[in-house]
Amino acid sequence: MVTFPTALDPASPDVRVEFGLAEAEFARQSINRATAAQIAAIHGVLREARETPRIYVGPHALSSNREHVEFAERAAIADLAVRLSVSENTIRAFDAQATTMIMRTPRTWSAFRGGQVSPANARVVAELAATLPDDDAVLKQFDDAVTTPARDLAPARFSTRARGIRERLHAEAASERHARRVDDRRVRFTPDVDGMAWIEAFVPGDVATRLMAHLDATAFALASNPAEERTMDQLRTDELCKLLLGDGTSTRVGVRVGVVVPVMTLLGLSEEPAILDGYGPIDAATARRLTAEAPSFYRVLTHPITGTVLDLDRVTLRVPADMKRWLQLRDQVCTFPGCGRRAARCDLDHTVDRQFGGTTKVTNLSHLCRKHHRAKHMTRWKVAQSRDGTIEWTSPTGFVRAADPPPF
Ligand SMILES: [Zn+2]
Repeated sequence: MVTFPTALDPASPDVRVEFGLAEAEFARQSINRATAAQIAAIHGVLREARETPRIYVGPHALSSNREHVEFAERAAIADLAVRLSVSENTIRAFDAQATTMIMRTPRTWSAFRGGQVSPANARVVAELAATLPDDDAVLKQFDDAVTTPARDLAPARFSTRARGIRERLHAEAASERHARRVDDRRVRFTPDVDGMAWIEAFVPGDVATRLMAHLDATAFALASNPAEERTMDQLRTDELCKLLLGDGTSTRVGVRVGVVVPVMTLLGLSEEPAILDGYGPIDAATARRLTAEAPSFYRVLTHPITGTVLDLDRVTLRVPADMKRWLQLRDQVCTFPGCGRRAARCDLDHTVDRQFGGTTKVTNLSHLCRKHHRAKHMTRWKVAQSRDGTIEWTSPTGFVRAADPPPF
């Protein structure tokens, strides 16, 4: 006997599939709309901060109105980042995206607000529109051309299509665009798992090609030795590291890196991981090797039971330089929540200023990058440090967040 599903029979698999599909599509649209709403709200808050800086900045003697607005904006960005648990760069990117889309691609922006365009496609539209010349006719053509594919295509295919549209409309010569992008060159460091990390460089294509050709040639020459057991990938990588570190060449420069080792690990009685400054946990064997033989590493020992750093500021840290080093290891990065700026590149700030009775001891010192250091002094952001060194931040609008805990 053949059974036909009835429209309202949830026991039928056909109906359950229909429901599931409708639910997924509805959720997709809600996500699109909610993301657009969040971006619009962030943009709105930052506009208010720029228009009414006093919400975020106290009556400090700032030299100019422009500076006043700038600090209010920074304090507001930090506030949003902490509340939403995203980076300040994300907040800035959302604000820039809203500005670009509202000004340059209003049709796609309203489709995004209406839930028809995905966040990924909206981001592509904003990124491409931002790089088009300031020409209303060109921008309108771009907006008109991308709105429909932005609704219909999956991100990868849409990105290809939209880049093609931009290329056709872009009047500026490719060489001029390249000259501008060269300014964005940079090196990126990304810790990975299992004691590994990535070093990436964003460089002009020709430089990259020459670098690779050089690595290929060297690796190939080394591989011709029958005793050589390393793969081409390994040879290229080893050669790159040798070149950058100046090993075996006259460009070698001394670099010292700190490593925090639990006492028992150092004695070989425990396999508890150590912390490599600026990277994170490394395995016990590597830590023992580094502290034993390499002069470019210095060590800080931690208590075998509590894991806290041995009270070095009284025992061995008589010299301020040593105290500085251990604070760098304790904080690792800027102590503003979510900020990833390396401690080595930060200011050492007295949490309670010396003029208000703050002393130079580890529980009154913390690392702040230049940006957050200035935010602390120039805006209504407040910071407090307890006796065990825990740091707590309060935003200008009253949001309280503890600093990210140190890794050991
Ligand atoms: Zn910072």
